[in-house]
Amino acid sequence: MDIERFTDIIARFLAVSGKILPDDIVKKLAELKAAEHMPLAKSVYDSMSRNQDLAASLDRPSCQDTGVVNFFVSAGENFPGLGKIAGALREAVVRATAEAPLRHNTVAIFDEKNDGTNVGERAPFVHWDIVPGSDKVKVETYMAGGGCSLPGRAITLMPSAGYEGIVQYVFDTMVDWGINACPPLLIGIGIAGSVENASILSKRALLRPLGSHNPNPRGAEMEGLLEDGLNRLGIGPQGLSGSSSVMGVHIESAARHPSTISVGINVGCWAHRRGAIVLDKDLSYEILSHKGVRL
Ligand code: SF4
Repeated sequence: MDIERFTDIIARFLAVSGKILPDDIVKKLAELKAAEHMPLAKSVYDSMSRNQDLAASLDRPSCQDTGVVNFFVSAGENFPGLGKIAGALREAVVRATAEAPLRHNTVAIFDEKNDGTNVGERAPFVHWDIVPGSDKVKVETYMAGGGCSLPGRAITLMPSAGYEGIVQYVFDTMVDWGINACPPLLIGIGIAGSVENASILSKRALLRPLGSHNPNPRGAEMEGLLEDGLNRLGIGPQGLSGSSSVMGVHIESAARHPSTISVGINVGCWAHRRGAIVLDKDLSYEILSHKGVRL
């Protein structure tokens, strides 16, 4: 495997995903704008759309906060050079930081220093899945901005709190913090038996394409009910009130301990910079998130 080419592809893909929103988000923002009746909210959607046009035509990031880069890698067990991928992803972030460019966002814990590279201790954070029998690798990128990371929360509830307790926690979090995250928001919720599992699932929930649903019909129903309820808060685009507060609600789950229900919440803002690219072992690639884009 040509690790130099792999690194170059990922660096270019990071640059693209910092400038162009994924297809599903662009479509959803257009739908929310078309359904919006409040003049101020409509004008906010207009400015978001103009922002996207200018980011593309001027070749600049769609938001000044290009976030801290997270990678979610689904690696085929037969993909060559698996052991080199983590280093290549790190180098790709350094290159994209200089060339895209990406804002310098990585601050070293305790030393409180930012060396301007966007890499550091466990940064970029890489989450791994190994896919049996596959010789491809799927790399999902996520740029977690500061504002949209602020509402991130996790808690372990007593089982007696039930699913009503989850709903209460989500609403309390969104009422207190949602406005910081540049709505309309994509809400990722993880439900599990401990906070670390619930947290990572809530982030993974943000990677799911908009319009997808939890595979359990009850989970899908809960997603729909939460979406309706959160929209009724009337937060609106950029928190200036409007018909829609969220682009969607995604729930991911893992079996829990009978004595606990843990809930994790992660929030994505309207400038939802995520991307998904699949590379073959010969490094031909398919971009799933941004159709028609070439690197
Ligand atoms: S919440 Fe999103 S759109 Fe708002 S400043 Fe942060 S990254 Fe940018």
